[in-house]
Amino acid sequence: MDPLKRYSGFLEELKNQARHRSLRAQSGVDFTSNDYLALAHSGRIRDAIIRALERGVPSGSGGSRLLRGNHAEHEHLEQDAARFFRTERALLFSSGYAANTALLSTLPQRGDLIVYDEYVHASAHDGMKLGRADSLSFPHNDVTAAECAMRTWRQRGGTGTPWIVVESLYSMDGDRAPLEDLSVLARHFGAFLLIDEAHATGVFGVDGRGLADKFEGSDHVLVLHTGGKALGVSGALVTGPAVLCEFLVNRARPFIFATAPSPLSAVALGESLSIIREEPERRIRLAALASYAREAIQQRIGAWTPQSQILPIIIGQSGPTLRVADKLQAAGFDVRAIRPPTVSEGKARLRISITLNTDETAIDGLVCALEYAMHRQSDVLSALR
Ligand code: PMP
Repeated sequence: MDPLKRYSGFLEELKNQARHRSLRAQSGVDFTSNDYLALAHSGRIRDAIIRALERGVPSGSGGSRLLRGNHAEHEHLEQDAARFFRTERALLFSSGYAANTALLSTLPQRGDLIVYDEYVHASAHDGMKLGRADSLSFPHNDVTAAECAMRTWRQRGGTGTPWIVVESLYSMDGDRAPLEDLSVLARHFGAFLLIDEAHATGVFGVDGRGLADKFEGSDHVLVLHTGGKALGVSGALVTGPAVLCEFLVNRARPFIFATAPSPLSAVALGESLSIIREEPERRIRLAALASYAREAIQQRIGAWTPQSQILPIIIGQSGPTLRVADKLQAAGFDVRAIRPPTVSEGKARLRISITLNTDETAIDGLVCALEYAMHRQSDVLSALR
């Protein structure tokens, strides 16, 4: 049998289940990206990169940070970030995916227990799979269940260190973790608390430091700030105790065995941190746009969405979700259908992302198109109500 047939068979199956994906060019008004503060096209970042090129900063790092790839720009960014987030140390990774896999495969040791929210990102799951610690999920935002899992583990003789893994703002639901309660729980059990701030950094908190701001600097907290979302670049900064960062430098395979990020992206990220500190008006405008959209969706579609820039409209099955997304795209609005396995079975949704790449007029147009697309599909409306 033609060995390629196996793969075309898999793809056919995905198509039959409305789960097939393909790459396409960007088009339509942006209601999909994570470029929340519209920094991906920032003039300040562009100028910072040009100035860096002019003073001889290279485009490539040339190797691993542990070999010749460690540049002054990386170190400068990390020092800046540690000051900004008020932690002992910050460590740069080439992506949030690499950082999460590094953290979870490297820090929890054999005999430890990771308890994680069922909604954490795929990169956290992959890190746990690569690591040596046992892991258990708890129902979304259920602190009592997390507590119960750790208590039972201790009662059964678990002697290692527990790790609690959450996102501060969930990427597909737009709701927040109960960080205060989780931090108390972590202290009570002598656990580390790992907070993924991918969708909160730059958007929330004093100076845009995120939702975990008040927990940073604590010796039981590690935070992940991704650079490709509100910061408008790429890469990720892990902030936390110096000893854990030093351990990652020595042991984290995604850090050790990969070419360091371009020194230019370190320069760009440094400029992003300055922008989020110096231009609070971006955050204020984003919050206003998000509440405008939330109200419009509530009034015209009857769907409740959380208080954030991520507005999910859960439809249920993949087929109808995909059909509504197609209609919106045909009307010029870039909204994507998020389907299993990214979200769980029966929870397919439109994920409307509000960014500074839109305005009230675009939001009015989107909600109008959404109402029209949904009314033409009775299965969609009945799923919502
Ligand atoms: N964590 C969360 C919660 C995310 O949503 C993402 C990206 N979708 C990542 C980590 C990975 O970050 P990156 O895109 O920088 O690899």
